[in-house]
Amino acid sequence: MRVQSLCTSCAQTISNPLCPRCFAHHVELWLRDKNLTNKQAAEVKRKLNKMIIESEETTSEIPCLICDREQVNLCTYCFTHNAELILSKISEEVLEEFEDDFHGELWKMAVY
Ligand SMILES: [Zn+2]
Ligand SMILES: [Zn+2]
Repeated sequence: MRVQSLCTSCAQTISNPLCPRCFAHHVELWLRDKNLTNKQAAEVKRKLNKMIIESEETTSEIPCLICDREQVNLCTYCFTHNAELILSKISEEVLEEFEDDFHGELWKMAVY
């Protein structure tokens, strides 16, 4: 039987499955080059962890493209949107850079 690969948040087909852990890892790597204070960085990390825990509450059969073992419930669009909500409360500047980077090359890199 074919596994339904739908995002549990927006119900769109997940075409480039990434698990919450790999997604959060990407965001954290990206944030290293930004001028966040330790406090801001810790806050982002805490909120990303919360997102991971919430995403893992729903089970899924979809393997992650990167690590192939975690379960994928959200599409990259919804992950990106969640991360934007987190960053919007931290720094406007970082949010803008995130929008530029994560809607562009970064995902192409991860997928191809
Ligand atoms: Zn979605
Ligand atoms: Zn993964």
